Amino acid sequence: TQVYLNGAFMAPADATISPMDRGFLFADGIYEVIPAYNGVLFRFEEHLIRLERSLAEVDIRNPHSRAQWRERCEQLLRANGGGNLSVYLQVTRGAAEKRDHAFPSPAVTPTVFMMTNPIAIPAADSPETAVGARAITLDDIRWARCDIKSVSLLPNSLLRQQAVAAGASEAILLRDGFVTEGSASNVFIAKAGTIATPPKSHAILGGITRDLVVELCHQHGLALEEREITEMQLRQADEIWITSSTKEVVPVIQLNNAIIGNGMPGPLWKALAHHYVQHKRRLCGL
Ligand code: PMP
Repeated sequence: TQVYLNGAFMAPADATISPMDRGFLFADGIYEVIPAYNGVLFRFEEHLIRLERSLAEVDIRNPHSRAQWRERCEQLLRANGGGNLSVYLQVTRGAAEKRDHAFPSPAVTPTVFMMTNPIAIPAADSPETAVGARAITLDDIRWARCDIKSVSLLPNSLLRQQAVAAGASEAILLRDGFVTEGSASNVFIAKAGTIATPPKSHAILGGITRDLVVELCHQHGLALEEREITEMQLRQADEIWITSSTKEVVPVIQLNNAIIGNGMPGPLWKALAHHYVQHKRRLCGL
């Protein structure tokens, strides 16, 4: 296994970071997770645009051009054998001389860390045998800028752990009675043939997979609305899906203790999963 730290490739044990790094002291950093299939980075531009936006929102200098990011990601994929891997990349504000909430001035060099992780075969690859996931609803306890892909993931981690402790795989979050997103995913519902997902705002991360699902629905004539979803609409949905770059589109068949639909992945999910896989195969030469 090889990881990348500040310009060099090395074994994970050799990648050492100062405890003065603001990523460690303040969770002052931004990250991305980019899937690669067959060694080909999927929706790479979209991930980089989001990275640039996140960095700009917290005023961390982007240390690389898009071409440099691509080259480094591809090199790391090759160093780890290619195939189906996700690239995790993180940029922190860097190591300051003393611990101070305010940014170091003059600015210090950002720390860049990257690693790869294997991607499990997603449910969408075999829609006929997919079984679906369980989710629970929880209060969204996070901050007011969830659109920034920050490494400050303590609330997300606490929420996901609560879901796991309850025997579920994801927490679907509610703020003031409305669905925001999952602890690490976006949420879609389907009711009477119409698909819905919350609009992009400061309350959710603008998921790359979310955007692709919206695009695929439009392309293939599936009715989709970007609108607020109430807790009641979530509970009464015919289908619930959660989306993320590494899990793609996962059907949820149980919410809290209630069965969703007939307890099986629904027909709209199957249709969408088919389009998603076709799209992925075409782009990645699978
Ligand atoms: N929301 C949150 C809070 C997430 O952490 C993630 C995945 N990192 C997503 C949504 C899904 O985003 P994407 O499709 O870009 O992976």
